[in-house]
Amino acid sequence: MIDPLELDRLSTLLAKNRTWANQVTAQNPEYFQKLSSGQSPGFTVVSCCDSRADPNTLLQGNLGELFVYKNVANLVGVDDLSLQTALQFSIESLKVRHIVVFGHHNCGGIRLALGAQLQGSPGDWLEGVRELAYDHQMFDDQTACASAGAIDRKVDKLCELNVIQQVRNASQSPAVQAAWIRGEPLAISGLVYCLRTGVVENLNCTISSQDEVDSVCFEAMKAICVRYR
Ligand SMILES: [Zn+2]
Repeated sequence: MIDPLELDRLSTLLAKNRTWANQVTAQNPEYFQKLSSGQSPGFTVVSCCDSRADPNTLLQGNLGELFVYKNVANLVGVDDLSLQTALQFSIESLKVRHIVVFGHHNCGGIRLALGAQLQGSPGDWLEGVRELAYDHQMFDDQTACASAGAIDRKVDKLCELNVIQQVRNASQSPAVQAAWIRGEPLAISGLVYCLRTGVVENLNCTISSQDEVDSVCFEAMKAICVRYR
């Protein structure tokens, strides 16, 4: 049987929703009517599930501006049917022209992949992140013996590298490839959010054609490696 306190917490959430909806309607009586007539978001955002990494709040997006897809560690799996369906829908039906991979520092998923988390195992989901860490020789030193500060820094570095890798993965998505072949303008960018400051940084890995993928992603990863040297 569920703890009555949990039902109270749920009731509190719903009460906050009613208060908010009433306030918005009082300020703009047409707001929800207009919102319900359709959506035309400017960006498709792939973000981490982390409760602190909410793109709408951090980028001050209004409802209807960001088409947000969330999973652990903001991964863009080319074989991920759910994510690929969301990408396809946003590109082909909503005519979104900019995809953003939205990573964040101190990501629990990245920490897990790096073996820097006390509990849990990375599992299959994070295998690609582990491969990325291997590629960058991030398992070479003994993470278990490193200082907490050094581990945090390594986690943040992998968080950023992972964003670039996911931008690359997004570029290989069937819906993106099809849009580029049709000659439609479509850009993919990577951002990272610093939990300690609230600031979102551009990782300068924006690509808008297949030709740019290798060079832009290589330069962006190189810049991260230099910054964390
Ligand atoms: Zn995360």
